[in-house]
Amino acid sequence: MSSITQGSYPPVLQDAERERLVQVVKDWTVAHGLTVRPPPAIAGNDAEGILATSAPVTLFPSPFPRSCFEEAKAIQTTYNELYALISQDEEFLTEMVKEVAGGDEFIANLWNVHLRVKKEGYVQNLALGLFRSDYMVHQDESSLQIKQVEFNTIASSFGGLSTQTSLLHKHLAQHEYPLLSSSASTAAANLDLPSNDSAAGLAAGLRAAFDAYGPSTLGHPTCVLFLTQTGERNVFDQRHLEYALSSSGSVPVFRLPFSEILTHTTIAPGSSQRQLLYTLPSNPSLVFEVAVVYLRAGYGPGDYPSQEAWEARYQIERSNAVCCPTVLTQLAGMKKVQQVLATPEESNTNSVPSALAKFMSPTSEKTQRLLKTFTNIYPLDTSLSGLHARQLATSPEDCQKYVMKPQREGGGNNFYRSTIPEQLQKIPEEHWNSFILMEIIEPPALANSILRNGAVEQGGVICELGVYGTCLWDQASREVKFNEEAGYLLRTKGDKSEEGGVAAGYGCMDSVTLV
Ligand code: ADP
Ligand code: MG
Ligand code: MG
Repeated sequence: MSSITQGSYPPVLQDAERERLVQVVKDWTVAHGLTVRPPPAIAGNDAEGILATSAPVTLFPSPFPRSCFEEAKAIQTTYNELYALISQDEEFLTEMVKEVAGGDEFIANLWNVHLRVKKEGYVQNLALGLFRSDYMVHQDESSLQIKQVEFNTIASSFGGLSTQTSLLHKHLAQHEYPLLSSSASTAAANLDLPSNDSAAGLAAGLRAAFDAYGPSTLGHPTCVLFLTQTGERNVFDQRHLEYALSSSGSVPVFRLPFSEILTHTTIAPGSSQRQLLYTLPSNPSLVFEVAVVYLRAGYGPGDYPSQEAWEARYQIERSNAVCCPTVLTQLAGMKKVQQVLATPEESNTNSVPSALAKFMSPTSEKTQRLLKTFTNIYPLDTSLSGLHARQLATSPEDCQKYVMKPQREGGGNNFYRSTIPEQLQKIPEEHWNSFILMEIIEPPALANSILRNGAVEQGGVICELGVYGTCLWDQASREVKFNEEAGYLLRTKGDKSEEGGVAAGYGCMDSVTLV
Protein backbone atom coordinates (compact mmCIF):
# COMPACT_ATOMS: atom_id res chain seq x y z
CA MET A 1 0.00 0.00 0.00
CA SER A 2 2.84 2.40 0.75
CA SER A 3 3.66 2.36 -2.94
CA ILE A 4 0.21 3.83 -3.57
CA THR A 5 0.19 6.60 -1.04
CA GLN A 6 3.84 7.60 -1.13
CA GLY A 7 6.78 7.43 -3.44
CA SER A 8 7.51 9.12 -6.70
CA TYR A 9 4.63 7.92 -8.85
CA PRO A 10 3.09 9.60 -10.76
CA PRO A 11 6.30 11.46 -11.46
CA VAL A 12 6.73 15.21 -11.18
CA LEU A 13 7.11 16.58 -14.71
CA GLN A 14 9.19 19.44 -15.98
CA ASP A 15 7.20 22.01 -17.97
CA ALA A 16 8.56 20.87 -21.34
CA GLU A 17 7.82 17.25 -20.49
CA ARG A 18 4.27 18.08 -19.51
CA GLU A 19 3.76 20.04 -22.72
CA ARG A 20 4.98 17.13 -24.82
CA LEU A 21 2.78 14.65 -22.98
CA VAL A 22 -0.25 16.92 -23.32
CA GLN A 23 0.31 17.26 -27.07
CA VAL A 24 0.61 13.50 -27.48
CA VAL A 25 -2.56 12.89 -25.44
CA LYS A 26 -4.50 15.54 -27.36
CA ASP A 27 -3.62 13.95 -30.69
CA TRP A 28 -3.90 10.30 -29.65
CA THR A 29 -7.33 10.81 -28.08
CA VAL A 30 -8.77 12.49 -31.17
CA ALA A 31 -7.12 9.99 -33.52
CA HIS A 32 -8.62 7.08 -31.53
CA GLY A 33 -12.03 8.43 -30.63
CA LEU A 34 -11.35 8.97 -26.93
CA THR A 35 -13.54 11.98 -27.50
CA VAL A 36 -16.75 13.78 -26.59
CA ARG A 37 -18.77 16.53 -28.24
CA PRO A 38 -17.40 19.73 -26.71
CA PRO A 39 -19.32 21.58 -24.01
CA PRO A 40 -20.93 24.82 -25.22
CA ALA A 41 -18.51 26.80 -23.05
CA ILE A 42 -15.68 25.49 -25.25
CA ALA A 43 -17.26 25.28 -28.67
CA GLY A 44 -20.15 27.73 -28.75
CA ASN A 45 -23.29 25.95 -29.87
CA ASP A 46 -21.57 24.00 -32.74
CA ALA A 47 -24.73 24.23 -34.84
CA GLU A 48 -23.24 22.02 -37.55
CA GLY A 49 -22.42 19.28 -35.01
CA ILE A 50 -18.93 18.82 -36.43
CA LEU A 51 -16.74 19.34 -33.39
CA ALA A 52 -15.20 16.71 -31.15
CA THR A 53 -12.66 17.12 -28.40
CA SER A 54 -10.59 14.90 -26.13
CA ALA A 55 -12.50 13.35 -23.24
CA PRO A 56 -10.97 14.46 -19.94
CA VAL A 57 -8.27 11.94 -19.03
CA THR A 58 -5.39 11.44 -16.59
CA LEU A 59 -1.82 11.77 -17.87
CA PHE A 60 -0.87 8.59 -15.98
CA PRO A 61 -2.77 5.44 -15.05
CA SER A 62 -3.66 5.46 -11.35
CA PRO A 63 -2.29 2.82 -8.99
CA PHE A 64 -4.98 0.38 -7.91
CA PRO A 65 -4.55 -2.53 -5.49
CA ARG A 66 -4.36 -5.73 -7.48
CA SER A 67 -6.34 -7.80 -4.98
CA CYS A 68 -9.20 -5.28 -5.07
CA PHE A 69 -9.22 -5.15 -8.85
CA GLU A 70 -9.23 -8.90 -9.18
CA GLU A 71 -11.95 -9.35 -6.59
CA ALA A 72 -14.21 -6.76 -8.27
CA LYS A 73 -13.83 -8.56 -11.59
CA ALA A 74 -14.25 -12.01 -10.05
CA ILE A 75 -17.58 -11.26 -8.36
CA GLN A 76 -19.20 -9.54 -11.34
CA THR A 77 -20.98 -12.63 -12.66
CA THR A 78 -22.41 -13.18 -9.17
CA TYR A 79 -23.70 -9.61 -9.15
CA ASN A 80 -25.16 -10.21 -12.62
CA GLU A 81 -27.03 -13.26 -11.32
CA LEU A 82 -28.26 -11.39 -8.27
CA TYR A 83 -29.68 -8.52 -10.29
CA ALA A 84 -31.22 -10.89 -12.84
CA LEU A 85 -33.01 -12.58 -9.93
CA ILE A 86 -34.14 -9.28 -8.41
CA SER A 87 -35.47 -8.17 -11.81
CA GLN A 88 -37.64 -11.28 -11.90
CA ASP A 89 -39.05 -10.88 -8.40
CA GLU A 90 -42.02 -8.65 -8.98
CA GLU A 91 -43.27 -9.04 -5.43
CA PHE A 92 -39.97 -7.81 -3.97
CA LEU A 93 -39.85 -4.88 -6.38
CA THR A 94 -43.45 -4.02 -5.53
CA GLU A 95 -42.35 -3.59 -1.91
CA MET A 96 -39.35 -1.47 -2.93
CA VAL A 97 -41.44 0.77 -5.15
CA LYS A 98 -44.05 1.14 -2.40
CA GLU A 99 -41.34 2.44 -0.08
CA VAL A 100 -40.23 5.24 -2.38
CA ALA A 101 -43.01 6.01 -4.88
CA GLY A 102 -44.95 8.28 -2.51
CA GLY A 103 -42.25 10.92 -2.72
CA ASP A 104 -40.98 10.00 -6.16
CA GLU A 105 -43.29 10.53 -9.11
CA PHE A 106 -40.70 9.27 -11.61
CA ILE A 107 -40.48 5.86 -9.95
CA ALA A 108 -44.28 5.76 -9.68
CA ASN A 109 -44.58 6.46 -13.42
CA LEU A 110 -42.05 3.75 -14.30
CA TRP A 111 -43.97 1.31 -12.16
CA ASN A 112 -47.17 2.22 -13.98
CA VAL A 113 -45.56 1.33 -17.30
CA HIS A 114 -44.80 -2.11 -15.91
CA LEU A 115 -48.34 -2.52 -14.53
CA ARG A 116 -49.91 -1.58 -17.86
CA VAL A 117 -47.84 -4.13 -19.76
CA LYS A 118 -48.40 -6.77 -17.11
CA LYS A 119 -52.14 -6.33 -17.48
CA GLU A 120 -52.13 -7.13 -21.19
CA GLY A 121 -49.32 -9.67 -20.76
CA TYR A 122 -45.63 -9.41 -21.67
CA VAL A 123 -44.83 -11.03 -25.03
CA GLN A 124 -41.02 -11.12 -24.62
CA ASN A 125 -39.51 -13.32 -21.92
CA LEU A 126 -35.89 -12.44 -22.61
CA ALA A 127 -34.28 -9.52 -20.81
CA LEU A 128 -30.78 -8.12 -21.21
CA GLY A 129 -28.68 -6.36 -18.60
CA LEU A 130 -25.57 -4.37 -19.45
CA PHE A 131 -24.61 -3.63 -15.87
CA ARG A 132 -21.83 -1.76 -14.11
CA SER A 133 -20.96 -2.25 -10.47
CA ASP A 134 -19.03 0.73 -9.05
CA TYR A 135 -16.57 0.62 -6.17
CA MET A 136 -14.10 2.64 -4.18
CA VAL A 137 -11.22 1.20 -2.21
CA HIS A 138 -11.67 1.30 1.52
CA GLN A 139 -8.79 0.88 3.93
CA ASP A 140 -9.58 -0.60 7.33
CA GLU A 141 -7.03 -1.41 10.02
CA SER A 142 -5.62 -4.44 8.33
CA SER A 143 -6.60 -4.57 4.70
CA LEU A 144 -7.82 -2.89 1.55
CA GLN A 145 -11.31 -3.74 0.38
CA ILE A 146 -13.61 -2.71 -2.41
CA LYS A 147 -16.81 -1.08 -1.24
CA GLN A 148 -19.71 -0.75 -3.64
CA VAL A 149 -20.81 2.79 -4.46
CA GLU A 150 -23.77 1.66 -6.55
CA PHE A 151 -24.97 -0.88 -9.08
CA ASN A 152 -26.12 0.46 -12.45
CA THR A 153 -28.78 -1.37 -14.43
CA ILE A 154 -29.53 1.24 -17.11
CA ALA A 155 -27.35 3.20 -19.54
CA SER A 156 -24.11 2.12 -17.84
CA SER A 157 -21.80 4.35 -19.79
CA PHE A 158 -18.11 4.72 -20.71
CA GLY A 159 -17.51 1.10 -21.76
CA GLY A 160 -16.56 2.42 -25.20
CA LEU A 161 -14.19 5.14 -24.03
CA SER A 162 -12.75 2.95 -21.30
CA THR A 163 -11.16 0.49 -23.72
CA GLN A 164 -9.57 3.45 -25.51
CA THR A 165 -8.28 4.91 -22.24
CA SER A 166 -6.50 1.66 -21.39
CA LEU A 167 -4.95 1.72 -24.87
CA LEU A 168 -3.89 5.37 -24.46
CA HIS A 169 -2.06 4.65 -21.22
CA LYS A 170 -0.43 1.59 -22.80
CA HIS A 171 0.75 3.77 -25.66
CA LEU A 172 2.16 6.34 -23.26
CA ALA A 173 3.87 3.65 -21.18
CA GLN A 174 5.50 2.22 -24.25
CA HIS A 175 6.46 5.35 -26.17
CA GLU A 176 6.34 8.40 -23.90
CA TYR A 177 7.12 7.65 -20.26
CA PRO A 178 10.55 6.20 -21.21
CA LEU A 179 11.44 9.63 -22.67
CA LEU A 180 10.91 11.42 -19.36
CA SER A 181 13.94 12.56 -17.36
CA SER A 182 15.57 9.64 -15.64
CA SER A 183 13.89 9.94 -12.24
CA ALA A 184 10.49 10.40 -13.85
CA SER A 185 10.92 7.58 -16.32
CA THR A 186 12.07 5.27 -13.53
CA ALA A 187 8.93 6.10 -11.58
CA ALA A 188 6.78 5.30 -14.59
CA ALA A 189 8.61 2.12 -15.51
CA ASN A 190 7.18 -1.30 -14.65
CA LEU A 191 3.57 -0.30 -14.90
CA ASP A 192 1.19 -3.25 -14.84
CA LEU A 193 -1.64 -2.36 -17.20
CA PRO A 194 -4.31 -5.05 -17.55
CA SER A 195 -6.17 -5.40 -20.81
CA ASN A 196 -9.66 -3.95 -20.96
CA ASP A 197 -12.20 -5.30 -23.42
CA SER A 198 -15.21 -3.34 -22.15
CA ALA A 199 -16.38 -2.22 -25.61
CA ALA A 200 -16.16 -5.71 -27.08
CA GLY A 201 -17.59 -7.25 -23.91
CA LEU A 202 -20.68 -5.04 -23.89
CA ALA A 203 -21.13 -5.56 -27.62
CA ALA A 204 -20.99 -9.33 -27.01
CA GLY A 205 -23.93 -8.96 -24.61
CA LEU A 206 -25.97 -7.07 -27.20
CA ARG A 207 -24.97 -9.67 -29.77
CA ALA A 208 -26.16 -12.53 -27.55
CA ALA A 209 -29.57 -10.88 -27.22
CA PHE A 210 -29.74 -10.16 -30.94
CA ASP A 211 -28.95 -13.80 -31.76
CA ALA A 212 -31.40 -15.11 -29.17
CA TYR A 213 -34.21 -13.04 -30.70
CA GLY A 214 -33.79 -14.91 -33.97
CA PRO A 215 -35.04 -14.01 -37.43
CA SER A 216 -38.13 -11.96 -38.11
CA THR A 217 -41.28 -13.99 -38.67
CA LEU A 218 -42.65 -11.06 -40.67
CA GLY A 219 -39.85 -11.17 -43.24
CA HIS A 220 -38.09 -7.97 -42.14
CA PRO A 221 -34.38 -7.64 -41.49
CA THR A 222 -33.73 -7.45 -37.72
CA CYS A 223 -31.75 -4.70 -36.00
CA VAL A 224 -30.53 -3.29 -32.69
CA LEU A 225 -31.93 0.12 -31.73
CA PHE A 226 -29.96 2.49 -29.47
CA LEU A 227 -32.31 4.97 -27.78
CA THR A 228 -30.35 8.17 -27.19
CA GLN A 229 -30.71 11.58 -25.63
CA THR A 230 -30.98 14.62 -27.83
CA GLY A 231 -27.81 16.68 -27.53
CA GLU A 232 -25.84 13.74 -26.04
CA ARG A 233 -22.20 14.78 -25.74
CA ASN A 234 -20.95 11.30 -24.92
CA VAL A 235 -21.88 10.00 -28.37
CA PHE A 236 -18.52 8.46 -29.27
CA ASP A 237 -18.66 6.17 -26.24
CA GLN A 238 -21.90 4.80 -27.68
CA ARG A 239 -20.51 4.68 -31.21
CA HIS A 240 -17.62 2.45 -30.04
CA LEU A 241 -20.19 -0.10 -28.82
CA GLU A 242 -22.09 0.20 -32.08
CA TYR A 243 -18.96 -0.35 -34.16
CA ALA A 244 -17.85 -3.29 -32.02
CA LEU A 245 -21.30 -4.80 -32.45
CA SER A 246 -21.50 -4.20 -36.20
CA SER A 247 -18.07 -5.71 -36.70
CA SER A 248 -19.08 -8.88 -34.82
CA GLY A 249 -20.99 -9.99 -37.93
CA SER A 250 -23.36 -7.74 -39.77
CA VAL A 251 -25.78 -6.47 -37.16
CA PRO A 252 -27.66 -3.36 -38.30
CA VAL A 253 -27.51 -0.80 -35.48
CA PHE A 254 -29.54 2.41 -35.48
CA ARG A 255 -29.64 5.39 -33.15
CA LEU A 256 -33.01 6.90 -32.37
CA PRO A 257 -33.61 9.85 -30.05
CA PHE A 258 -35.89 8.79 -27.19
CA SER A 259 -38.15 11.73 -28.11
CA GLU A 260 -38.73 10.25 -31.60
CA ILE A 261 -39.75 6.71 -30.63
CA LEU A 262 -43.40 7.20 -31.53
CA THR A 263 -42.53 8.92 -34.81
CA HIS A 264 -40.30 6.17 -36.19
CA THR A 265 -41.41 2.94 -34.53
CA THR A 266 -44.72 1.07 -34.44
CA ILE A 267 -46.02 -2.19 -33.08
CA ALA A 268 -46.69 -4.52 -36.02
CA PRO A 269 -50.39 -4.05 -36.76
CA GLY A 270 -52.59 -7.08 -36.21
CA SER A 271 -49.82 -9.26 -34.81
CA SER A 272 -50.31 -10.73 -31.35
CA GLN A 273 -46.51 -10.99 -31.13
CA ARG A 274 -46.26 -7.17 -30.97
CA GLN A 275 -43.07 -6.98 -33.03
CA LEU A 276 -41.46 -3.53 -32.85
CA LEU A 277 -40.95 -2.09 -36.33
CA TYR A 278 -38.48 0.68 -37.07
CA THR A 279 -38.82 2.66 -40.27
CA LEU A 280 -35.56 4.20 -41.39
CA PRO A 281 -36.24 7.96 -41.53
CA SER A 282 -33.75 8.42 -44.38
CA ASN A 283 -35.42 5.72 -46.51
CA PRO A 284 -38.95 4.89 -45.36
CA SER A 285 -39.16 1.91 -47.68
CA LEU A 286 -36.76 0.16 -45.31
CA VAL A 287 -38.52 -1.37 -42.31
CA PHE A 288 -36.56 -3.29 -39.67
CA GLU A 289 -37.85 -5.51 -36.90
CA VAL A 290 -36.18 -4.44 -33.67
CA ALA A 291 -34.59 -7.41 -31.91
CA VAL A 292 -32.94 -5.43 -29.10
CA VAL A 293 -33.65 -1.99 -27.66
CA TYR A 294 -30.64 -0.55 -25.83
CA LEU A 295 -31.53 2.45 -23.67
CA ARG A 296 -28.93 5.15 -23.31
CA ALA A 297 -31.80 7.45 -22.36
CA GLY A 298 -34.94 7.18 -20.29
CA TYR A 299 -33.13 6.84 -16.94
CA GLY A 300 -34.24 10.18 -15.53
CA PRO A 301 -37.28 12.48 -15.46
CA GLY A 302 -35.68 14.86 -17.99
CA ASP A 303 -36.35 12.35 -20.77
CA TYR A 304 -40.07 12.31 -19.96
CA PRO A 305 -41.23 15.90 -20.45
CA SER A 306 -44.75 14.83 -21.44
CA GLN A 307 -47.23 11.98 -21.29
CA GLU A 308 -46.19 11.16 -24.86
CA ALA A 309 -42.72 10.18 -23.63
CA TRP A 310 -44.31 7.74 -21.17
CA GLU A 311 -46.38 6.32 -24.03
CA ALA A 312 -43.13 5.85 -25.93
CA ARG A 313 -41.57 3.94 -23.04
CA TYR A 314 -44.76 1.86 -22.82
CA GLN A 315 -44.51 1.04 -26.52
CA ILE A 316 -40.96 -0.24 -26.07
CA GLU A 317 -41.82 -2.22 -22.94
CA ARG A 318 -44.89 -3.96 -24.39
CA SER A 319 -43.14 -4.83 -27.65
CA ASN A 320 -41.45 -8.08 -28.53
CA ALA A 321 -38.00 -6.45 -28.60
CA VAL A 322 -35.53 -7.61 -25.96
CA CYS A 323 -35.19 -4.60 -23.67
CA CYS A 324 -31.89 -3.52 -22.18
CA PRO A 325 -33.18 -2.85 -19.64
CA THR A 326 -36.81 -3.71 -18.97
CA VAL A 327 -38.65 -1.42 -16.55
CA LEU A 328 -38.25 -4.04 -13.81
CA THR A 329 -34.50 -4.29 -14.41
CA GLN A 330 -34.21 -0.51 -14.34
CA LEU A 331 -36.08 -0.51 -11.00
CA ALA A 332 -33.81 -3.24 -9.64
CA GLY A 333 -31.06 -0.60 -9.89
CA MET A 334 -32.79 1.73 -7.42
CA LYS A 335 -30.56 2.84 -4.56
CA LYS A 336 -33.39 1.62 -2.32
CA VAL A 337 -32.75 -1.95 -3.51
CA GLN A 338 -29.03 -1.60 -2.78
CA GLN A 339 -29.89 -0.31 0.70
CA VAL A 340 -32.30 -3.11 1.49
CA LEU A 341 -29.79 -5.74 0.34
CA ALA A 342 -27.21 -4.24 2.66
CA THR A 343 -29.31 -3.54 5.76
CA PRO A 344 -29.11 -6.36 8.32
CA GLU A 345 -32.02 -7.27 10.55
CA GLU A 346 -32.46 -5.01 13.56
CA SER A 347 -32.60 -8.05 15.80
CA ASN A 348 -29.28 -9.40 14.58
CA THR A 349 -26.94 -7.01 12.87
CA ASN A 350 -24.44 -9.78 12.24
CA SER A 351 -26.78 -11.86 10.13
CA VAL A 352 -26.96 -11.87 6.35
CA PRO A 353 -29.63 -9.29 5.45
CA SER A 354 -32.84 -11.20 4.74
CA ALA A 355 -33.36 -9.36 1.44
CA LEU A 356 -30.03 -10.72 0.22
CA ALA A 357 -30.78 -14.16 1.65
CA LYS A 358 -33.98 -14.16 -0.41
CA PHE A 359 -31.89 -14.33 -3.57
CA MET A 360 -28.69 -16.04 -2.50
CA SER A 361 -27.84 -18.82 -0.11
CA PRO A 362 -26.73 -17.05 3.10
CA THR A 363 -23.95 -19.53 3.72
CA SER A 364 -22.47 -19.65 0.24
CA GLU A 365 -19.01 -18.27 -0.43
CA LYS A 366 -20.44 -16.08 -3.22
CA THR A 367 -22.81 -14.38 -0.77
CA GLN A 368 -20.02 -13.78 1.70
CA ARG A 369 -17.93 -12.15 -1.01
CA LEU A 370 -20.77 -9.81 -2.03
CA LEU A 371 -21.40 -8.94 1.61
CA LYS A 372 -17.81 -7.79 1.99
CA THR A 373 -18.41 -5.15 -0.70
CA PHE A 374 -21.34 -3.55 1.17
CA THR A 375 -20.92 -0.47 3.25
CA ASN A 376 -23.44 0.89 5.73
CA ILE A 377 -26.57 2.12 4.02
CA TYR A 378 -29.70 3.10 5.92
CA PRO A 379 -33.31 3.75 5.04
CA LEU A 380 -34.72 7.12 6.04
CA ASP A 381 -38.08 5.62 6.98
CA THR A 382 -39.70 5.07 10.37
CA SER A 383 -38.21 1.63 11.05
CA LEU A 384 -35.70 1.42 13.92
CA SER A 385 -32.70 1.78 11.63
CA GLY A 386 -34.55 4.46 9.67
CA LEU A 387 -35.14 6.51 12.81
CA HIS A 388 -31.49 6.07 13.74
CA ALA A 389 -30.51 7.26 10.24
CA ARG A 390 -32.81 10.26 10.56
CA GLN A 391 -30.89 11.26 13.67
CA LEU A 392 -27.57 10.90 11.86
CA ALA A 393 -28.81 12.81 8.82
CA THR A 394 -30.17 15.75 10.78
CA SER A 395 -27.23 16.09 13.16
CA PRO A 396 -24.74 18.75 11.97
CA GLU A 397 -21.84 16.59 13.20
CA ASP A 398 -22.94 13.10 12.24
CA CYS A 399 -24.13 14.07 8.76
CA GLN A 400 -20.51 14.82 7.79
CA LYS A 401 -19.91 11.11 7.27
CA TYR A 402 -22.81 10.52 4.89
CA VAL A 403 -24.22 11.00 1.44
CA MET A 404 -27.98 11.10 0.91
CA LYS A 405 -29.29 9.69 -2.36
CA PRO A 406 -32.62 9.83 -4.17
CA GLN A 407 -33.68 7.14 -6.67
CA ARG A 408 -31.91 8.79 -9.60
CA GLU A 409 -29.18 8.02 -12.13
CA GLY A 410 -26.74 10.03 -14.18
CA GLY A 411 -24.90 12.02 -11.54
CA GLY A 412 -25.54 15.32 -9.83
CA ASN A 413 -28.51 14.18 -7.75
CA ASN A 414 -26.97 13.40 -4.36
CA PHE A 415 -26.55 15.47 -1.20
CA TYR A 416 -23.31 15.34 0.68
CA ARG A 417 -22.37 15.87 4.30
CA SER A 418 -23.42 19.26 5.71
CA THR A 419 -25.99 19.85 2.95
CA ILE A 420 -28.09 16.88 4.13
CA PRO A 421 -29.91 18.49 7.09
CA GLU A 422 -30.85 21.61 5.11
CA GLN A 423 -32.07 19.46 2.21
CA LEU A 424 -34.20 17.33 4.52
CA GLN A 425 -35.80 20.49 5.86
CA LYS A 426 -37.08 21.21 2.36
CA ILE A 427 -38.69 17.79 1.99
CA PRO A 428 -41.95 16.88 3.74
CA GLU A 429 -41.11 14.27 6.37
CA GLU A 430 -43.52 11.73 4.86
CA HIS A 431 -41.30 11.72 1.73
CA TRP A 432 -37.94 11.17 3.47
CA ASN A 433 -38.22 7.45 2.78
CA SER A 434 -37.68 8.16 -0.93
CA PHE A 435 -34.00 8.67 -0.01
CA ILE A 436 -31.31 6.46 1.43
CA LEU A 437 -28.39 7.46 3.64
CA MET A 438 -24.99 5.97 2.84
CA GLU A 439 -21.68 6.14 4.62
CA ILE A 440 -19.07 8.03 2.61
CA ILE A 441 -16.24 5.80 1.48
CA GLU A 442 -12.88 7.52 1.81
CA PRO A 443 -10.30 5.87 -0.41
CA PRO A 444 -6.55 6.30 0.19
CA ALA A 445 -5.17 9.59 -1.09
CA LEU A 446 -3.55 9.55 -4.54
CA ALA A 447 -2.21 12.22 -6.87
CA ASN A 448 -2.46 12.54 -10.62
CA SER A 449 -2.78 15.10 -13.42
CA ILE A 450 -6.01 15.49 -15.35
CA LEU A 451 -6.11 16.95 -18.84
CA ARG A 452 -9.49 18.61 -19.26
CA ASN A 453 -10.40 21.00 -22.08
CA GLY A 454 -6.72 21.59 -22.81
CA ALA A 455 -5.74 22.50 -19.24
CA VAL A 456 -3.83 20.31 -16.79
CA GLU A 457 -5.27 20.04 -13.27
CA GLN A 458 -2.81 18.61 -10.77
CA GLY A 459 -3.44 17.38 -7.27
CA GLY A 460 -5.10 14.88 -5.01
CA VAL A 461 -7.53 12.52 -6.70
CA ILE A 462 -10.09 9.87 -5.82
CA CYS A 463 -10.64 6.84 -8.03
CA GLU A 464 -13.81 4.87 -8.64
CA LEU A 465 -13.63 1.47 -10.30
CA GLY A 466 -16.55 0.17 -12.35
CA VAL A 467 -16.82 -3.41 -13.54
CA TYR A 468 -19.14 -4.15 -16.45
CA GLY A 469 -21.29 -7.22 -16.63
CA THR A 470 -23.57 -8.62 -19.31
CA CYS A 471 -26.46 -10.92 -18.55
CA LEU A 472 -29.25 -12.34 -20.70
CA TRP A 473 -32.01 -14.29 -18.99
CA ASP A 474 -35.37 -15.83 -19.74
CA GLN A 475 -37.99 -14.74 -17.22
CA ALA A 476 -40.32 -17.63 -18.12
CA SER A 477 -37.86 -20.51 -17.75
CA ARG A 478 -35.70 -18.52 -15.28
CA GLU A 479 -32.72 -19.67 -17.29
CA VAL A 480 -29.62 -17.46 -17.46
CA LYS A 481 -28.49 -17.72 -21.07
CA PHE A 482 -25.43 -15.48 -20.99
CA ASN A 483 -23.46 -14.15 -18.03
CA GLU A 484 -20.09 -12.49 -18.44
CA GLU A 485 -17.80 -9.99 -16.79
CA ALA A 486 -17.13 -7.37 -19.44
CA GLY A 487 -14.13 -5.19 -18.65
CA TYR A 488 -13.71 -2.20 -16.39
CA LEU A 489 -13.86 1.57 -16.05
CA LEU A 490 -11.67 3.73 -13.86
CA ARG A 491 -12.98 7.23 -13.22
CA THR A 492 -10.92 9.74 -11.33
CA LYS A 493 -11.94 13.06 -9.83
CA GLY A 494 -10.27 15.80 -7.86
CA ASP A 495 -10.42 14.97 -4.15
CA LYS A 496 -12.34 18.18 -3.44
CA SER A 497 -15.22 17.10 -5.69
CA GLU A 498 -18.05 15.04 -4.23
CA GLU A 499 -19.43 13.77 -7.54
CA GLY A 500 -17.38 11.84 -10.05
CA GLY A 501 -19.38 11.67 -13.26
CA VAL A 502 -17.29 12.21 -16.39
CA ALA A 503 -20.30 13.23 -18.47
CA ALA A 504 -21.55 15.49 -15.68
CA GLY A 505 -18.18 17.28 -15.86
CA TYR A 506 -16.70 16.32 -12.50
CA GLY A 507 -14.54 13.34 -13.25
CA CYS A 508 -12.23 12.04 -15.93
CA MET A 509 -11.28 8.81 -17.66
CA ASP A 510 -8.41 6.82 -16.20
CA SER A 511 -7.04 3.28 -16.22
CA VAL A 512 -5.39 1.16 -13.55
CA THR A 513 -1.82 0.19 -12.99
CA LEU A 514 -1.96 -2.72 -10.58
CA VAL A 515 0.09 -2.49 -7.40
P1 ADP B 1 -25.37 8.05 -9.85
O1 ADP B 1 -26.29 6.90 -10.06
O2 ADP B 1 -26.03 9.36 -10.09
O3 ADP B 1 -24.07 7.89 -10.56
P2 ADP B 1 -23.87 7.47 -7.41
O4 ADP B 1 -24.44 6.72 -6.28
O5 ADP B 1 -22.90 6.75 -8.26
O6 ADP B 1 -25.08 8.05 -8.27
O7 ADP B 1 -23.19 8.78 -6.85
C1 ADP B 1 -22.52 9.69 -7.70
C2 ADP B 1 -21.09 9.91 -7.25
O8 ADP B 1 -21.07 10.33 -5.89
C3 ADP B 1 -20.21 8.67 -7.30
O9 ADP B 1 -19.65 8.49 -8.58
C4 ADP B 1 -19.17 9.00 -6.24
O10 ADP B 1 -18.16 9.85 -6.76
C5 ADP B 1 -19.96 9.78 -5.21
N1 ADP B 1 -20.45 8.85 -4.16
C6 ADP B 1 -21.65 8.24 -4.13
N2 ADP B 1 -21.76 7.45 -3.04
C7 ADP B 1 -20.60 7.55 -2.38
C8 ADP B 1 -20.09 6.99 -1.16
N3 ADP B 1 -20.81 6.15 -0.41
N4 ADP B 1 -18.83 7.33 -0.78
C9 ADP B 1 -18.10 8.18 -1.51
N5 ADP B 1 -18.52 8.76 -2.66
C10 ADP B 1 -19.75 8.46 -3.10
MG1 MG C 1 -22.64 6.43 -10.24
MG1 MG D 1 -25.88 5.20 -11.26
